[in-house]
Amino acid sequence: MSGRKLGGPMSVLLAAAFALGMGGLTAAEPAGEAKDGEKDKVGFHPVDHASFVISAPEATIYVDPVGKPEAWAGFKAADLILITHIHGDHLAPELLAKLRGKDTVVLGPKAVIEELKYGEAMANGESRKVKGVTVEAVPAYNLSKDRLQFHPKGRDNGYVVTVGGKRIYISGDTEDIPEMRALKDIDFAFICMNLPYTMTVEQAASAVLEMKPKVVIPYHYRSREGKTDLERFEQLVANPSKQGLGPGIEVRKLKWYEPPPPKP
Ligand code: ZN
Ligand code: ZN
Repeated sequence: MSGRKLGGPMSVLLAAAFALGMGGLTAAEPAGEAKDGEKDKVGFHPVDHASFVISAPEATIYVDPVGKPEAWAGFKAADLILITHIHGDHLAPELLAKLRGKDTVVLGPKAVIEELKYGEAMANGESRKVKGVTVEAVPAYNLSKDRLQFHPKGRDNGYVVTVGGKRIYISGDTEDIPEMRALKDIDFAFICMNLPYTMTVEQAASAVLEMKPKVVIPYHYRSREGKTDLERFEQLVANPSKQGLGPGIEVRKLKWYEPPPPKP
């Protein structure tokens, strides 16, 4: 678990945020903000393997925050924290206790809320509106016989979040389940791809080609053997003229596993 370090060019979004006095945001990695539309500015800021921040006009959302508190110090306080499931790369109770303010809403599946002893449980298929953000809990589970023990059906959540005029799918840890394939009108899809816990590049690409999100953002792609082959994924999804697999979909690669800068 390497905390992502700071730096990179300041984006238009962050420049605007800075001008509004939210100076802390300058410490955040600016990669991944929506390129279209002036009013629908949604920014995505990777922090760790499965952990990121969504910054939007309505709310700041932390997804599966883990790691050192310092890695989260540069962001606006969370209005909403979404937890997908109980595994240590997604749920860190000690960190959550530090990040949670008195008005922060924490949503997670029942197993998470039972462990935390606070927050609001959402089951697969439930949806609710929180602070101007629509959150739908969607299934996330393994399909392959040799992986069923990792994420049994019904225990965990993925999410579809509507914020800043965008529909954002967060896969959680899952394979290419039918419920994922059937999602419609997704602007940004965060898709996991690693073995043995989730799925292969081929499974992920196949599901994405069926879902047809406007933009796909690979995340959770570190595995025991190293990192998943994102070039291969991009080739399958975004370069159909070579592969004959369907319409090209933009693959946006964010900086998930940046090595920390050398110590002075
Ligand atoms: Zn997991
Ligand atoms: Zn995981």
